[in-house]
Amino acid sequence: MATIIDGKKLAQEIRAKLKIECEELKQKGIIPKLAVIMIGEDKASQVYVRNKSKACNEIGIEFEEYLLNENIKQNELIELIEKLNKDTSIKGILLQSPIPKGLDINEAFRTIAPEKDVDGFNPVNVGKLSLNQDTFVSCTPYGIMKMFEAYGIDLEGKNVVILGRSNIVGKPLIQCCLNKNATVTVCHSKTKNIEEYTKRADVVIVAIGKSKFVKEEMIKKDAVIIDVGINRGEDGKLTGDVDFEKVSQKASYITPVPGGVGPMTIAMLMNNVIKASK
Ligand code: NAP
Repeated sequence: MATIIDGKKLAQEIRAKLKIECEELKQKGIIPKLAVIMIGEDKASQVYVRNKSKACNEIGIEFEEYLLNENIKQNELIELIEKLNKDTSIKGILLQSPIPKGLDINEAFRTIAPEKDVDGFNPVNVGKLSLNQDTFVSCTPYGIMKMFEAYGIDLEGKNVVILGRSNIVGKPLIQCCLNKNATVTVCHSKTKNIEEYTKRADVVIVAIGKSKFVKEEMIKKDAVIIDVGINRGEDGKLTGDVDFEKVSQKASYITPVPGGVGPMTIAMLMNNVIKASK
């Protein structure tokens, strides 16, 4: 049976440390404050924003929410971001995605000042990550790297296979793992015979959004399995992209869903807000 990587516990430990750092900043007269922009009424986004607000409250980070109507024009969105860039009381800016079709999310991310880009989506920060320079790393990949660190999982020389190539998870993960000297392979929806790659992997990181996609026979014994997927079944239950019950019998380490990568994502967002405030 694999060791379960307890993201919930690790995230709590990180948040407790951040609370102390936040208090120290306040004593120096620096007030960490996060501005979150949400457009429209996407239900899942509302839950994510509520969780971010709760985490900020717990740590002592001020939280300002900008709820915009889904009919907002691109120039109005850009003007708001520019206003927040100039506001010295705001230390971090986050644009909750998805945003309505018709709005240009790339221009919006490009407009967020790199030093306030706590999600790490501004191309300047993406570029710095690819050059292995200090930057804001997007929160889900950053949280996964922290898990490896906390559990003493060294990626150097390991075959890491990433399933999924999204801008927010898969792609930044490629750089994060390369920066740790792993040999990285990326699979996506056009990859043929995915199991040929996963079977050779020392570490498999799955972020595709397909419930229980990774089966026991697709991995080698003692592989490390990181499950990013969040899938809600008809019964309302959450499942990951990995068949946890069976795969956990064969893997050496595995993250559960819920309680694995998810809590780490929010903890690393908080970490980035404190970093931006510093
Ligand atoms: P996304 O933007 O939809 O990207 C999905 C990726 O998976 C794409 O690269 C796609 O390939 C690939 N893919 C889809 N079906 C595939 C298949 N059958 N075989 C191989 N690759 C396949 O998703 P995302 O935003 O990265 O999120 C992925 C999952 O992680 C979702 O369940 C999401 O809810 C979850 N998530 C969790 C957290 C967290 O904090 N725990 C954070 C972010 C996301 P193509 O590029 O070829 O289309």
